[in-house]
Amino acid sequence: PQPDPEAGAAVKAADRAHVFHSWSAQELIDPLAVAGAEGSYFWDYDGRRYLDFTSGLVYTNIGYQHPKVVAAIQEQAARMTTFAPAFAVEARSEAARLIAERTPGDLDKIFFTNGGADAVEHALRMARLHTGRPKVLSAYRSYHGGTQQAVNVTGDPRRWASDSATAGVVHFWAPFLYRSRFYAETEEQECARALEHLETTIAFEGPSTIAAIILETIPGTAGVMPPPPGYLAGVRALCDKYGIVLVLDEVMAGFGRTGTWFAADLYDVVPDLMTFAKGVNSGYVPLGGVAISAEIAATFATRAYPGGLTYSGHPLACAAAVATINVMEEEGLVGNAASLGASVVGPGLRELAERHPSVGEVRGTGMFWAVELVRDRETREPLVPYNASGEANAPMAAFAAAAKKAGLWPFVNMNRTHVVPPLNTGEAELKEGLAALDAALSVADEHVR
Ligand code: PLP
Repeated sequence: PQPDPEAGAAVKAADRAHVFHSWSAQELIDPLAVAGAEGSYFWDYDGRRYLDFTSGLVYTNIGYQHPKVVAAIQEQAARMTTFAPAFAVEARSEAARLIAERTPGDLDKIFFTNGGADAVEHALRMARLHTGRPKVLSAYRSYHGGTQQAVNVTGDPRRWASDSATAGVVHFWAPFLYRSRFYAETEEQECARALEHLETTIAFEGPSTIAAIILETIPGTAGVMPPPPGYLAGVRALCDKYGIVLVLDEVMAGFGRTGTWFAADLYDVVPDLMTFAKGVNSGYVPLGGVAISAEIAATFATRAYPGGLTYSGHPLACAAAVATINVMEEEGLVGNAASLGASVVGPGLRELAERHPSVGEVRGTGMFWAVELVRDRETREPLVPYNASGEANAPMAAFAAAAKKAGLWPFVNMNRTHVVPPLNTGEAELKEGLAALDAALSVADEHVR
C-alpha cells in the first residue's frame, strides 16, 4: 500500500479530538493510525507494517479480512442486514446450530449477546435464577469484562474503580504454580491445595448462598495459566457436591485458540454454562453468547428468562460466525494452532528463554502463550511491579517499543508478553515474530539484576 502520511494525520487528529478510549488516561495515549490489515499483518499510513502477535485483543482468530467471511457479511447485508431477536432467522439458527455442535456435552442452547462482558452478565443471572442463591465465586488473576457485574467478578486491577460491596462476589485463588499462593512445589501439590482452598472458601461463605463459580478455563489476560491436571475436574466435583453452577468463560480461550475448539476439551470438563465471544466470528461483527446446559435451559422452559438485547443474534454477526466456523473447518485452523503451537511457537519461546535471562517462564498451548519477564530468575521478581505505570513500567515499555521497531506488534500486560497470533499464521511468519521477540528481549535483559 502507498504511504499517505497526510491522511494518517487527519485520522489521528479526529481521534485525538473526539474519540474517548477504553481504560486510558486520554491525554497520555498516542494511538497508532491504522491504514489497513490483511491476514496476520496491519500497516500504518507511513508504510510501516507490523506482524500482529495480539490478534487485536485476542479475537481475530482467522486473521484480518478473510475473503470468505467478508463475502458472507456482504451477502447477508444485501439479503437481510438486521432483524429483531424474537424471530427465527436463517443466519441466527445456523450459527446457533454450528456453535452447539462444537460446545462440550449438553450445552446445546445458545443465548446470543453483543460481546463477552454481557455474556458473563447473563450467565451469572441465569445461575442465580436457576439456584435461587445470591453469591458468585471468582478467581483473582482473571478478567471477565468491563460491565458492572463482569468487572466485579474480574480479579485484576480493572475491577477496583467499579467494585461494589453489594455485588455478591467473593474472590479466591486459582492454581498458578510459578507464583504459587499455596507454597506448592509441584503441579500435584498446587492442584490439591487450590482445591482445598476453594472448598474451604465455599464452606465459610456457606454453600447454600453460592449460585456459581466462574473461571476462565485457561485464564487469558491474567497470564495464560493452564490449570494443573485435575483442577477443573475437581472444581466440577465441588460444584456437583454443593449444587453450584459451573460457568467456564471461554471468551478468549474458545474457538480454536488452544488448539482445540474449546479449552474445556483439553480437560474433559463440561460446565453448566459457557461464555464465548471474540473468536466465534473473529470479531468481524460484535457477537458473544452463552451456551446453556439442558438442565439450566429446562429452568426457563415454562418460566420466562428475564433478560434480552435488541441485537441478540444479530443476523450480520451470526452470518459472520457461520462463515468463520466453516472457514476454520475447511482450513483446519484448530489443528493448525495445535500443531504449529507445539512445533514452532512453544519450542521457539523455550529457546528464547534459554538465551534471555529476563525470561522467567514460558507457558501455553496452541496459539495461546505467555512469556513471564523477570528481573531475577531465582527470586522471580517481576520485571515491573504488579499494576505498574509510568516510570515504574519503563522496562516493559522499552520491550514493547523494541518489538515494534523490529516489525512486531506485541501483546503486553504487566510483566508479561503474550504470543497470541491468528490461528492461521504460517510457520515463516511465526519465525519472523520470534526473531523480533529475540531482539526485544535483549532490551528487557538490560533490566535484569
Ligand atoms: N471474558 C474474558 C475471558 C475476556 O478475555 C474478555 C475480554 O478480553 C471478556 C470476558 C470481555 O469481553 P468483551 O470485551 O467482548 O466484553
